[in-house]
Amino acid sequence: MNNAETSAQSNPSTSGDRYLDKYDVVVIGSGLAGMTAANVLGRGGHKVLLLERHYKLGGLATWFRREKGEHIFDVSLHGFPVGMIKSCKRYWNKEIADRIVQLPNIKFDNPQFSLTTTFNREDFTRLLIERFGLPEDTVKAFFDEARNQTHYDDQSKTTRELFEQFFPGRPDVARLLMEPITYANGSTLEDPALTYGIVFSNFMSKGVFTFQGGTDLFVKMLRDELVKNGVDIALNAPVEKIIVENGRVTGVRIADSAMDVYSPEIGGAPKNVSPLAGRTVRTSAVLSNANLKGTIFNLVGREFFDPDFVAEAEAVRLNNSSVQVYIALKKGETLDEEKCGDLLFTSVAPEFRADWLLSRHITSRTYSFYYPKTRPGTDRYYVVASSNANYEDWANLTDEAYEESKRDLIETTLDALDKYVPGIREKVAYVEAATPKTFRAYTDHWLGASFGTKYEGLAVSRALGNKIPGLYHAGSVGIIMSGWLGAVNYGVIAANDVDEYLMRVNS
Ligand SMILES: Cc1cc2nc3c(=O)[nH]c(=O)nc-3n(C[C@H](O)[C@H](O)[C@H](O)COP(=O)(O)OP(=O)(O)OC[C@H]3O[C@@H](n4cnc5c(N)ncnc54)[C@H](O)[C@@H]3O)c2cc1C
Repeated sequence: MNNAETSAQSNPSTSGDRYLDKYDVVVIGSGLAGMTAANVLGRGGHKVLLLERHYKLGGLATWFRREKGEHIFDVSLHGFPVGMIKSCKRYWNKEIADRIVQLPNIKFDNPQFSLTTTFNREDFTRLLIERFGLPEDTVKAFFDEARNQTHYDDQSKTTRELFEQFFPGRPDVARLLMEPITYANGSTLEDPALTYGIVFSNFMSKGVFTFQGGTDLFVKMLRDELVKNGVDIALNAPVEKIIVENGRVTGVRIADSAMDVYSPEIGGAPKNVSPLAGRTVRTSAVLSNANLKGTIFNLVGREFFDPDFVAEAEAVRLNNSSVQVYIALKKGETLDEEKCGDLLFTSVAPEFRADWLLSRHITSRTYSFYYPKTRPGTDRYYVVASSNANYEDWANLTDEAYEESKRDLIETTLDALDKYVPGIREKVAYVEAATPKTFRAYTDHWLGASFGTKYEGLAVSRALGNKIPGLYHAGSVGIIMSGWLGAVNYGVIAANDVDEYLMRVNS
């Protein structure tokens, strides 16, 4: 972020005076679920305060600049389903929705197959029949079964069993169907088939989409809409406690110092401290967009919940984390769009296995290629290589070993990328890596989870309002509710719950 951007983002107000002492609802966290909930509630006429611990809005929907703003990297703008257009139009505005465009060239390259697809039902049907030799009836029945999965279905069936039912003895088919979804939301063959079915069908409806203009423009447009709808925003404002009195939520306490994360983006400038630092804000309701477990155990405290609920919340498993390598090409260097595509799923593993996908010894990488069309008006090309990763593999290294591991991640990624961008080392202007520790530091997600919690987190998240009146949660839980679209939609669902609660307590 350049300096102008920093101050625009960091200082929605310079004094604490413009903040109220009491709000209808405080939203903790400005991820896509938090921001969407704040927008829906603000638009509905409620007094909303949005508190974010970071110095910018967006959560994992983020970007960063390097080399005095010469390079810009998107962290999680790799692709989402078409449903994002409808959700943005309905819960944000038409201008935002109108910038959502398709990524038409999705590529796969692994020892079992190499192909290009538009990643929708029509093209996958063609591929499964012509390329993988499957009967048309089986393919149709599989798509119908995947699309008809609902929350009311028997959740004991796993995705592995779903594939075995339709494509027994075909690990290559399982790979085509599963690898991108594992990448998109961290789900595995052992997760409930319905979590796979819903996300897969969302993508299959029209393919993979992106936001033209980049995450920076996207978040700026969201911010403008929040301001228009009267939402008060405070950045650098980490909530340290959700206050519960007489069994219900009554306020939040904001820490007296900002998040302690080094960022070359702000070039060593003094950290902004929110004017709300150290203050308690009263509120009728809190909607937390922070990590589900962090909300329950750190922000509220286990003593406020019954033991059965505490046990249920403790048992919620977190999703995996990620590593990424961000690569900027020198001015004048280009990427071959025909060869690279928009999104390229690569693997050198002989077959698809979730544990291999997470291994520190990386065999699978997904490349997002950013052409000038991503941000019309620029002439620069970028590559972001992403892999799933385990927090534990990175968290306990010495500083020296950690830096060495990051260097190794960069070097091995450049080696692997050379197959698709020959001579990449000569073309690189700037390269940097992020690890599970990075994701943890910037969002406070336990274990640096990229996609929140596993499926059982959804029931715990939804139950909060019944445990402590006025307490709600929205954010990546349960696979379906994660990713850009899932987070936006979950924000709407939780906002409706809050709205209903406020109507009840205020009537
Ligand atoms: C590497 C990577 C790649 C991804 N790629 C894609 C993709 O291609 N497509 C896709 O759809 N999704 C992708 N995702 C997932 C997607 O980005 C997330 O699921 C989604 O953005 C999460 O939104 P959220 O609302 O759950 O909140 P988060 O983004 O998790 O944000 C939570 C916010 O709460 C704030 N917060 C936490 N604690 C506090 C506190 N105490 N006080 C104040 N603020 C607090 C955090 O700072 C953060 O801003 C990717 C994620 C990662 C990590």
